[in-house]
Amino acid sequence: MIKQARFIISNTDVKKCPPPDRPEYAFIGRSNVGKSSLINMLVGQKSLAKVSVRPGKTQLINHFIIDESWYLVDLPGYGYAKISISVKEKFQKLISRYILNRENLYCLFVLIDIRHAAQKIDIEFITWLGENHIPFAIVFTKADKVGKVTAAKNVAAYTVELKEIWEELPPILISSSVDGTGQEEIISFIENANKT
Ligand code: GDP
Repeated sequence: MIKQARFIISNTDVKKCPPPDRPEYAFIGRSNVGKSSLINMLVGQKSLAKVSVRPGKTQLINHFIIDESWYLVDLPGYGYAKISISVKEKFQKLISRYILNRENLYCLFVLIDIRHAAQKIDIEFITWLGENHIPFAIVFTKADKVGKVTAAKNVAAYTVELKEIWEELPPILISSSVDGTGQEEIISFIENANKT
């Protein structure tokens, strides 16, 4: 469904992002959640986004332009344990500066590994997004690793957690980079949002 995806720029400075002249969709999640694989699956390219060799390697804001009509952004992963607190704080600043200031950010896709129960860091991050009125959706990744029944059960358990803090649930999508689950749905979601 995506015809062309092209890398534009990597940087650590929000001011150096491309001009906010078209809709933008960013992807974020804990390191190793499957973000690079999901981006590659969505655009139908094997290695547009690098699949990490070691957790926490993507430390930049990476901009891609899709079909000359919208931006896809690969954000640094959050919450990995193996980096120092000062580096962690630097990332957090970078991420929050981007999220709070990027005026053309139509939706932030927060990736969650479907195998895991709700983790404090994800819930805290989602809560922070809500407090700051950032439009976001949740994408559960690696659906192929569990059966359909477990997938549904885990998503349901997660939504129970979310309902404790939210009256209304965000959009929820399910994906697998291995079998292509969610590709159509996520791209349709973006195309619909582009029309608004
Ligand atoms: P990132 O750090 O969030 O960018 O995660 P990566 O895309 O690098 O993936 C981390 C690991 O999970 C890699 O070994 C991938 O091959 C694996 N992985 C990613 N997505 C999937 C998926 O949908 N299904 C399965 N089975 N493995 C996946």
